[in-house]
Amino acid sequence: MDINDSFVMQGRRARLVETIKGKGIKDERVLNAIGNIKRHLFVLKGLEYSAYEDRALSISASQTISQPYTVAFQTELLELKSTDKVLEIGTGSGYQAAVLAEIGVDVYTVERIEELHISATELLKELGYKVNTFYSDGFIGLDNYAPFDKIIITAAIPEIPDSLLSQLKIGGIMVAPEGIAGQGQVMRRIIRVSETDFERQNHGLFTFVPMLKGKN
Ligand code: SAH
Repeated sequence: MDINDSFVMQGRRARLVETIKGKGIKDERVLNAIGNIKRHLFVLKGLEYSAYEDRALSISASQTISQPYTVAFQTELLELKSTDKVLEIGTGSGYQAAVLAEIGVDVYTVERIEELHISATELLKELGYKVNTFYSDGFIGLDNYAPFDKIIITAAIPEIPDSLLSQLKIGGIMVAPEGIAGQGQVMRRIIRVSETDFERQNHGLFTFVPMLKGKN
């Protein structure tokens, strides 16, 4: 694998940053992260030259790496602080985890497909990103490491379970595409205002691959 960048890739990446800025992303840390991460290393071989188009692309195991704008939008909604401990559900290629790591938060990411868990773990390590990766069912979350300041779900979840909401700190934020896969999902931002109260906000329609139960 070529982990070296090229001027062509750097140029495309700089244009991608301008594109997502043009779509309304303002958080400089998010824009910098996207400007720094070699997305072409996170996509399938042969798709490298499409890696800096603002669209989702195929990865192994019939999954996708999210559209860069979507990654940026979800990350911005998290309102990250450098001291945050963040849980991601749906490691996939590892790209979203790399964005979080670039911003400097403490990242815990869970994937249910072993092949993807292994390849993302290796790639993130090779690129020098400190990310804690887990091969597990995200519906359960990571009880041993909870509570989290922020939780980001990157697969379509039909309904956010209490098991995950309970792993959020009071004052913490969860961002998740809620809805049936194939029908479009509403991007929810849920703020835990107290032990028992959650404030729910809606942030537009998106399309994700399904969140599935169990390991594979
Ligand atoms: N964040 C990823 C996007 C991957 S697509 C990236 O940046 O590339 C969504 C991922 O969620 C897929 O890899 C899929 O296998 C995973 N997934 C689906 N259901 C899951 C579950 N129950 N637990 C953990 N991961 C899950």
